[in-house]
Amino acid sequence: MFATRFAPSPTGYLHRGHAYAALTAHAAARAAGGRFVLRIEDIDATRCRPDYEAAIYEDLAWLGLTWETPVRRQSEHLADYQAALGRLEADGLLYRCFRTRKELAQAMASAPHGPMEVYRGQPLPADEEARRLAAGEPFAWRLSLDAASRKLGGFAGLTFTDDTAGVVPARPELGGDVVLARKDVGVAYHLAVVVDDALQEITHVIRGEDLFEATHVQRLLQALLGLPTPTYRHHPLITGPDGRRYAKRDGAETLRSLRERGMSATDLRGELGFD
Ligand code: GLU
Repeated sequence: MFATRFAPSPTGYLHRGHAYAALTAHAAARAAGGRFVLRIEDIDATRCRPDYEAAIYEDLAWLGLTWETPVRRQSEHLADYQAALGRLEADGLLYRCFRTRKELAQAMASAPHGPMEVYRGQPLPADEEARRLAAGEPFAWRLSLDAASRKLGGFAGLTFTDDTAGVVPARPELGGDVVLARKDVGVAYHLAVVVDDALQEITHVIRGEDLFEATHVQRLLQALLGLPTPTYRHHPLITGPDGRRYAKRDGAETLRSLRERGMSATDLRGELGFD
């Protein structure tokens, strides 16, 4: 059965960009007579806040959306992500990365074949790794593209279907050796998303085109974990009157502020192209 999702992180209040994404996914589910899933991506306990999460439910209900319950909150399912991480580790696909942000930037800038755009690394020699572990140094787990490529015999056969672009060859090298478990929170976005999309039986991932690159990495993780690959639809990001996309960091006006100013949900839906 068709199933799609809207997966916000409660790290701020929702703005028009979120409303557009949620309405797009919801409309697709309705048109297909399928499921609409809301997922709270709150693994980053340092940035997520309960009041932002409460506002997500309030804002989406105000927009007229309904969703399946109970809502999956990633912070309540860390064991699922650990299990997936354990499988990848057992398959020799991960390595520990102790580098700090600064060290990473330096390593990337001074790579032997010219500056790296995305990070590619190596496991540390066993004795150095043991010493650092014994010293209690924090580390992230990274996916080794080299090991993944060996396991799959290269990435040539790896594709995903995008509703607009058609069959797309996956190019996970665009993301480099991505972090699958962060130093601070023990899991990372790509891993949690892939595990959840499979567990929640999502057939269509409908999200903004800013996540197009993420799809390449996520497709690889699906292959490595033996998970099904949904169909993807990457919608354009809507822009404000200044031509720039709405973004939290640029102080985009929040849905709750629009509401407080007296805008109706019908007006906002109309402005965004929904009836
Ligand atoms: N949680 C992500 C975000 O807030 C979206 C993840 C996704 O749609 O895959 O941007």
